[in-house]
Amino acid sequence: MTSTIYKKLKSIQDAINYEIDQHYINAKGNKTTFSNFIIQNTKSIVSEINEQDKLKSLINLFYSYPTQDVTARMETVHRAQGILKEIAQNNKNIVRADFVGAGFKPAPTRDLKKTDVKYVKGVGPRISQILNKLMIFSVHDLFQYYPRTYIDYQKQVQIKDLKINEDVTIIGKIKSIGCFEPSKRKDLLIISINIQDKTGKIKINKFLSKKFGRIIESAHKKQYPAGTDVVCSGTVSFDKFSGSFTLTNANIEVLGKEGESLNTARIVPVYPLTEGISLEYMRKIISNAFNVYGNNIEESLPKNILQEEKLLDLKTSLTHIHFPESQEISNLARQRIVFEEFFKMQLELAYRRYVTDKNRSGLCLNDTSDGYIKKLLESLPFKLTNAQQRVFREIKADLMSNKPMHRLLQGDVGSGKTIVALMALVFGIENGFQTALMAPTEVLVKQHARKFHDYLKPLGLEACELTGSTPSRLKKEIYEGLRDGKIKIIVGTHALLQEEVCFQNLGLVIIDEQHRFGVKQRDDLLKKGKKVERLFMTATPIPRTLALALHGDLELSEIDELPKGRMPVKTILVQSSQRQKAFDLIKGEAAKGRQVYIVFPLIEESEALSAKAAEVEYEELSKTVFKDLRTGLMHGELPSRQKDKVMQDFVNKEIDILITTTVIEVGMDVQNATVMMIENAERFGLSQLHQLRGRIGRGSDQSYCLLVPQSYSDEALKRLEIMTKTNDGFIISQEDLKIRGPGEFLGTRQSGLPDLKLADLIKDTEVLEQARKKAIKILKEDPNLTNYPKLRNMVNVKEETYISAG
Ligand code: ADP
Ligand code: MG
Repeated sequence: MTSTIYKKLKSIQDAINYEIDQHYINAKGNKTTFSNFIIQNTKSIVSEINEQDKLKSLINLFYSYPTQDVTARMETVHRAQGILKEIAQNNKNIVRADFVGAGFKPAPTRDLKKTDVKYVKGVGPRISQILNKLMIFSVHDLFQYYPRTYIDYQKQVQIKDLKINEDVTIIGKIKSIGCFEPSKRKDLLIISINIQDKTGKIKINKFLSKKFGRIIESAHKKQYPAGTDVVCSGTVSFDKFSGSFTLTNANIEVLGKEGESLNTARIVPVYPLTEGISLEYMRKIISNAFNVYGNNIEESLPKNILQEEKLLDLKTSLTHIHFPESQEISNLARQRIVFEEFFKMQLELAYRRYVTDKNRSGLCLNDTSDGYIKKLLESLPFKLTNAQQRVFREIKADLMSNKPMHRLLQGDVGSGKTIVALMALVFGIENGFQTALMAPTEVLVKQHARKFHDYLKPLGLEACELTGSTPSRLKKEIYEGLRDGKIKIIVGTHALLQEEVCFQNLGLVIIDEQHRFGVKQRDDLLKKGKKVERLFMTATPIPRTLALALHGDLELSEIDELPKGRMPVKTILVQSSQRQKAFDLIKGEAAKGRQVYIVFPLIEESEALSAKAAEVEYEELSKTVFKDLRTGLMHGELPSRQKDKVMQDFVNKEIDILITTTVIEVGMDVQNATVMMIENAERFGLSQLHQLRGRIGRGSDQSYCLLVPQSYSDEALKRLEIMTKTNDGFIISQEDLKIRGPGEFLGTRQSGLPDLKLADLIKDTEVLEQARKKAIKILKEDPNLTNYPKLRNMVNVKEETYISAG
């Protein structure tokens, strides 16, 4: 007897575990549904053991189960588990060990991130595979699968008032449904649905593959018998065959069925799709998911933020992002979600800064402007521009205050950042500190080192250079010089981050092209000294919005003025058939003693292939067109020593024409160079073209940038035309950002740009600013986010990682 009771209890427990696994779908067993199964089995033991009350309440729990939503079902199942546990406690004589403890499946969380999308009604294993391709794995992902756009079918019109190209909705009756084969396409079948309202008739054609056409035709006939009242939405167009209006991309739904319609007579969402799933089906699945899981959407932002910033709650926002009731609420919903995306990223940035700075203070350097700096300025062959002076003042103020510096120095190519950077380093030295500049490539490091060398000579100071290809004997010397403090300025690549690199007294680092380093690398340099100040620098000026987005709470210094006397570069688009003209111009310039760069195709996949291409062209050109001139070859595959030599020869005017790959993109500074010819220009991005062009126009002579595309798309032509219209790097980067979008624009995964699903860095600048201000304010008031557990989860920054060395 007892064992029969036990078997029943056990089967109830098993059923509950199975139901939990199935995510509360009231799973069907081979005989009946889960809830009925529990009721029947419990009933059969009610009179057998002395637990009538508990068993009766267990039965009562499950009567309403079929009509409950998932949240309520979870509640029910948990209560049932509680009751079973109590029964087990009181009946140890009946219940075996395998029932208690591990026998109760831990209830899964209500976390929508952990709820597999396959449990959504209408999904199942096959559709779930398709959704996975769209990176939708959980219900949470599905809710975040935002529409690409919307079509507004709210406008309801009568058939007589149809106007071409309007998105409209008509309400009418089905008159007939027919089906025919088009004469030209034997694989197609056209279902033609005739609809009528009081004012006229319209025919809607659906093109189907023959394979399914007949089945769908009969399904349609069943679904829409003649006389059915229907709602149709679509775009009005003109049908040549019937000589009357029709609706394209039409959706038809039975009037008033299923409560609310998803595809007609409203603002309908349009999703990016993949093969195997239709737009209508996607809408249906998402709507189903809302019906069942909508109540489980947990608010992600603290209440007070929602109130203060006048934002909709998450559930409302998600609902109206997918199925907006009006344009107004759709905008508000979007704003709320965009705010959250930006806010999360801004909070993380601000928090990271807070954690990094918690144990740091600024250097509080002393003003020493009549020392080295004065000498340096006196020895320069030029006077600083106003912008250079202003920017140096800003940097100096940071270094003299007790707060750590957070500054990004931006300036267009050729605006003279190098000297400003060097002044900052010299300022550090004068105060008794060692200083460093880190740049992402060897070429760039060499350029900086060379310029520093020239600028520093009159001061009797020196800059050292450390890269991966520094000979190991020299490396050892450098390590030693850094350790004992003899080396005051070091310029290097990632090599500076190596463990062996120890400073006696590092005080300031400048990170050039900072977006090409990871966050950790940028932070790692800070650990090489007790108190290290840091300045970011970029030669790819980025729009202010993007700078803020990437850096959050960061001050910007912009050198927005070029040195006087520069002639703007003339940029000319040369058809490849007119290449000879370009060569003539080059010869002319060379005859005047000027120098020329010819850049050969960028081959994305590999520098080796680019190098090869440049080599072939070099062989050809140096023997033919330019046989009377001195040509040189430069590419990334050359041994380091040879690269140095070619660069030096070019600087010394021993080479007239340098045939090269994009290795010269950054840093080359030869004022006598006046022509930059770029072959296959259509293959380059805007920033890259601008960087390349930045190699010329550095002196007072007229310079020419010749863009020679091979063949091009409209988009490439747009890029090249922008180049011919402006020399302003900020405008160019703004355009570039528009064309490519932020992810590609920055070009690195490590750029720290988070995954923005809805937010648009160009269009949503206002919301970005709103989110940034809020994030900074909240952290100011509550730096540890003690009052904001939700936000602490959001920032998810591990403190240890960012504590600076001390
Ligand atoms: P960036 O690194 O910003 O592209 P550089 O620092 O390489 O620019 O400077 C470009 C060129 O302009 C260099 O040859 C430099 O000597 C020169 N230069 C810098 N500042 C001035 C100035 N104020 N007046 C004239 N020439 C300058
Ligand atoms: Mg520079």
